[in-house]
Amino acid sequence: MEIKKVVVIGSGTMGSGIAAHLCNANVPVTLLDLKTEISEQARERIHKSKPPLLLDKSKINNIKVGNIYDNFTEVAEADWVVEAVVERINIKHDIYKKIFKVRKKGAIVSSNTSSIPIKVLSQNLTEDEKKDFCITHFFNPVRYMGLLEIVKSENNDLDKINSLKKFCETELGKGAIICNDTPGFLGNRIGVFAMQIAMTEAFKMKLSVEEADAIFGRPMGIPKTGIFGLYDLIGIDLMSDVLKSFIKELPETDKFHEVAKEIPLVKRLIETGYTGRKGKGGFYRVNKVDGKKIMEVLNLETGDYFPSKKINIKTEKVDLKILINQDDKYGKYAWSVISKIIKYASSLVPGITKEFNDIDEAMRLGFNWTKGPFEMLEEIGVDNFFSKIEEYKDNNFLENLAQSKNEEFYGERQKYTDIHTLGKAKKTAMSVDGNNSAQIYRFKDYNIVEFTTKANALDYDSMDALKKATNKPLIIINESMQFSAGVNLSYTMEFADKGDFKSIEKFIRYFQETCKHLKYSDYPVISAPSGLTLGGGFEVMVQSNFVASHTNIVVGLVETIVGLIPAGGGCKEMLARWLDTEEAKLDPHYASLKVFDIIGYGKTATSPVEAIPMKYLKPEDKKIMNRNSLLEVSKKILKDNRDFKAPAETKFNLAGHIVKEKMIKVLDKLYNDKVILDHGMKVGKELANVLSGGDTTIDKTLSEEDLFKLELDSFMRLIKTKETQDRIKHTLATGKPLIN
Ligand code: NAD
Repeated sequence: MEIKKVVVIGSGTMGSGIAAHLCNANVPVTLLDLKTEISEQARERIHKSKPPLLLDKSKINNIKVGNIYDNFTEVAEADWVVEAVVERINIKHDIYKKIFKVRKKGAIVSSNTSSIPIKVLSQNLTEDEKKDFCITHFFNPVRYMGLLEIVKSENNDLDKINSLKKFCETELGKGAIICNDTPGFLGNRIGVFAMQIAMTEAFKMKLSVEEADAIFGRPMGIPKTGIFGLYDLIGIDLMSDVLKSFIKELPETDKFHEVAKEIPLVKRLIETGYTGRKGKGGFYRVNKVDGKKIMEVLNLETGDYFPSKKINIKTEKVDLKILINQDDKYGKYAWSVISKIIKYASSLVPGITKEFNDIDEAMRLGFNWTKGPFEMLEEIGVDNFFSKIEEYKDNNFLENLAQSKNEEFYGERQKYTDIHTLGKAKKTAMSVDGNNSAQIYRFKDYNIVEFTTKANALDYDSMDALKKATNKPLIIINESMQFSAGVNLSYTMEFADKGDFKSIEKFIRYFQETCKHLKYSDYPVISAPSGLTLGGGFEVMVQSNFVASHTNIVVGLVETIVGLIPAGGGCKEMLARWLDTEEAKLDPHYASLKVFDIIGYGKTATSPVEAIPMKYLKPEDKKIMNRNSLLEVSKKILKDNRDFKAPAETKFNLAGHIVKEKMIKVLDKLYNDKVILDHGMKVGKELANVLSGGDTTIDKTLSEEDLFKLELDSFMRLIKTKETQDRIKHTLATGKPLIN
């Protein structure tokens, strides 16, 4: 079965997301709704979406639009028809009747429903039609969420389901998990239960909103939105509808009922329009006091708002064992929540799936958890878990495990796919070493370095691990969301606060030395980025010999935003790339001015398509839709480059003060227009100095070391200023840059 054309019916949140993602995969797609105006508006929303749903905005018109009355003939040409209309069964039944009347013989028809069982959806279909009908449950936002649940029925032609899975894996890059027809499938069944447990236990144990979010978040390997933050994000009213649908579908004996009871405070929030971020606020709200915006948070007992407080729960590191044994209310809350999630998830095996592994993967892909409940159980330790848990009767999975006491019960990750993923490979390493910031996995023919800090921020140890791993071909790759958000600014500020600038200088030098080593060591170095690849993270990537990039990356040099300039070779490499153009051969100022514009504004690209014109990525760098495939592609690069030779050192001919003056003119204009202030001017001048080559002329040749020195000197002058330190502190405290 080949999928060459797709029609999506219903152009709301999900239909438009699915159409955009098919467009990303270069699959011809038509989006139909009740009126053409509606699907046209959907196309406009796609074009303006943030974060962008499209890899390449210029392709927006590849999504054809129309309505279900005048343009239904499109359906007759489609190999796959995706229904994503409102969650109303009669509307869905009507649409299927229309579709099956005209569809091409053998074409797949699927629904994106979140809650209607396949037997109900397909009840009016003939046996033959049922063969080609399934549920394809995408998550929002479609481009960014890895999970796709494909729900099959006993009527399905399995070959067809498998080839749809293959298409969705390879072309759409999804983690496609085949599920049974049970309410909420895998992700939402466990994910919504987990949210409800986290919420009801917080009420019961009298934790504040911030306290619950601080625990049911990073320390548990769960996104930092936590529980109440996630409720606000999804919409408190929408969550209430989701719960109602679960209550309707699940038998009364299901434990879900215990956590889905209406909470009076939540009911009141919905009734008064406090439905979350899209409404007047929710558990959190932004309030204006004396003209200043402040974040307020709901007191769960009184229902009043108070300024939100930062919570210190001792452990910021993801260490479940320490957390659940912590002898305070945080430890008790963590254990209560996690043990109940583990109990519930395991009680559903084999009912909702015979592979417990699939439940974990659904939580990782659909809810961005670092580990699913079963892997958390493995981390807590089987013995430890059973010594703490009170009862688990009628739970076959736990009863069996209690008997076998098999600490190694988990096996490998990502069983749902044949792809040899990083998660699977790590378990087969010959040896593992590393430090607090990175792990080195050693294999026979190559090494892998995986950064392990928060957002994979880089420090001395990260560099040390890279350096130690270059005794063989090296692949720099990671499982967590971000490749690297850049240099660890809190680490740098710890030195700055003590006035210990020597240590900062030592670190930057080591960073430069390591990156140079990556580029020129005897063995090829491959970076396989996805997610944030910023600042220092970009510098590691750009000084690797090869790049295999996921299509979801945010890449760029953003140092100027915190009052710094790139000093790990970012300026140098960007100059090298822009010097190597036809324009630069004709105009000696071209490269410096281009790079000044890109780095000066801290420009970022949100996909490889955007990154190539800025030269953050090269056309020959590999771009991969499925994140699971990054390791296989990287290994293929190694195989294809067995006779690798390190590149020759780059040389630079730059125009010095002549081009620097041009850049300063640009700065003067920005300053006069009040786009930048005094410190912006200072940062700009330092950048101009580096990119012009400093005290040089076009006939002099500069080495990479010369460029590194210019970068370092500028960086050190800037980090010593109070203004830059204030900008860094502000960014660290708020997660947002201080503008100008
Ligand atoms: P939505 O309300 O945003 O969009 C529904 C669209 O369907 C609207 O544009 C509407 O005009 C159109 N529509 C209604 N009747 C139609 C008809 N007869 N023919 C053509 N179009 C019609 O809804 P949504 O959030 O995109 O949800 C769509 C489906 O996806 C639902 O089944 C929902 O359960 C499921 N889903 C939603 C999410 C989510 O996060 N929103 C996630 C997963 C699955």
